[in-house]
Amino acid sequence: MKAEIIAVGSELLTPDRVDTNSLFLTEELNKLGIEVVRKSIVGDNRDTLSAAFKEAMERVELIIASGGLGPTEDDLTRETVADLLGRKLHLNHEILRYIEGRFRQLGREMPAVNVRQAMVPEGAEVLENPRGSAPGLWIEDAGHFIALLPGPPRELKPMYQERVLPRLLRRSSKVRMFHRELRVAGLGESGVEQRIRPIYTRYTDVNTTILAAPGEIQIHLRMWTDDAAHAQKTLDEIAQGFEIALADRIFSQDGSSMEEVVASLLTRNNSTISAAESCTGGLLAQRLTSIAGSSSYFLGGVVSYSNELKTAWADVPAELIQTKGAVSSEVAIALAEGIRRQVGSTLGVGITGIAGPGGGSEEKPVGTVHIALSHAGGVKERGVVFPGDREAIRWHASQLALDLVRIHFLYNGGEPPSRIAKRA
Ligand code: AMP
Ligand code: MG
Repeated sequence: MKAEIIAVGSELLTPDRVDTNSLFLTEELNKLGIEVVRKSIVGDNRDTLSAAFKEAMERVELIIASGGLGPTEDDLTRETVADLLGRKLHLNHEILRYIEGRFRQLGREMPAVNVRQAMVPEGAEVLENPRGSAPGLWIEDAGHFIALLPGPPRELKPMYQERVLPRLLRRSSKVRMFHRELRVAGLGESGVEQRIRPIYTRYTDVNTTILAAPGEIQIHLRMWTDDAAHAQKTLDEIAQGFEIALADRIFSQDGSSMEEVVASLLTRNNSTISAAESCTGGLLAQRLTSIAGSSSYFLGGVVSYSNELKTAWADVPAELIQTKGAVSSEVAIALAEGIRRQVGSTLGVGITGIAGPGGGSEEKPVGTVHIALSHAGGVKERGVVFPGDREAIRWHASQLALDLVRIHFLYNGGEPPSRIAKRA
């Protein structure tokens, strides 16, 4: 079964309010194997609203709308849908008594406008709303299922679970959605696309989306089928193909974040880490400690912004900063080795760079970052010029630092094969 979601409310077309109901509904419908093929946001206007329902009914079997069931003039969903389907509205005395009772409990008299909420289109089923005054409506019309739900998420969510879900379960097939997420670092969106396109285009029954997120690319695979074993086998096969095409650039196959992956590697290897950060201002330490249990691997670090404190806190020789400059591979290495020595950790990371917008030069443009990882067997260093604004540069730097730690464990402290290093 395919579905569309219509979010109703003029406030959702302003910069102040976000339609979150459709995210909840999409996740829930996907669990039932119902694919959401389109979402619309429509203001409180009878003509646009009517057109949205009419068009959706031409395309799909199931339509779920949220909002526009309030008591005021601007809430039009009930009347518009009744009109479109050619059904009269009748006053439902039971609902009216319920709404009057709610007001009485609050010590108030029901305003006359609330009578609108007790109007029910002919043949519609009422979906009770113990958390608000507006009941929902379930309408079956010429092979279509239409659910009209209230806008407030705290009313919509339980109403979906208690009233809509059982109705859908009775009607839905055994088809379910199967999902796999891979995350990639050190490659751009088009680089990923180019490598994996020959693989995923062979599977016409799998929906592949490539999403760019800060410092990483996410690949989502979705498959709708009633055959769970077939789905697992197909998704495994594609993931294996991606592993060959992307090699060590894949850092996660279960949706876990880069810091989660690194935290688990440090823990499994009984290793500890420290950081001396300049341009990232503690972002690496923040990300490393955002994981519960981080005290078992993160010993500490410094934000040594000034040259003097790079020397005082991370043991960087003042002459080195003088001769090579604070943003240099030599100083990154000295920061990593210095903090590792000071702290006594297994690994030490040094980061120095120019986050901008000022401070760049022709030789060292804004975005220049040097990152070093010091370990018992030596030190690795990477010099990069990251694109983007200050925030993006700082994030990219922390991401690459974490990725260096990941690669370190992947190759047991050794160097990655050159074929893969070139790709990265
Ligand atoms: P309504 O049923 O149109 O009276 O909606 C009442 C309130 O629910 C609105 O003022 C919003 O705060 C909230 N709301 C409506 N639609 C949505 C939506 N799609 N996502 C999240 N909140 C919503
Ligand atoms: Mg509204």
